[in-house]
Amino acid sequence: MKQTEVDMVIRVGPMDIGVFFIPGDNDTFGDFTYLKTQIRVDSRLEGAALVDTLLHEIFHAIWAMGQLKSKAQKEERAVAVMATYMTQVMRDNPHLMKWITKNLK
Ligand SMILES: [Zn+2]
Repeated sequence: MKQTEVDMVIRVGPMDIGVFFIPGDNDTFGDFTYLKTQIRVDSRLEGAALVDTLLHEIFHAIWAMGQLKSKAQKEERAVAVMATYMTQVMRDNPHLMKWITKNLK
C-alpha cells in the first residue's frame, strides 16, 4: 500500500493514530503499525466491510496499548481492556462515530 495524506486521526488512549484510506494489495485489507502510530485501510472497501476493517485495526491498537500482547491473557481481562478503551475511543472521537453511522447506512 502506498502512503498518502492522513484521512482521519483517531485518539486511542494517549495516542493520536493517523488513518489512511489507500488502495490495497489484495493481501490484507488493513493494518496497524505501532511504531508509526498509523492505520491503513483498503480504500476499495465500502459500507459494513469498511467499518469492520477500521474497527478491527482499532482493536489491534487497543490490544497493543492494553499490553494484551505480552502474555497469555484470560478472556475476562482482554474483554475488560477492549471495553474500556472502546469507551474512550467513542468518547474522544465523535467524528469517528459519525463516520461509522454514515458508512453503515
Ligand atoms: Zn488483524
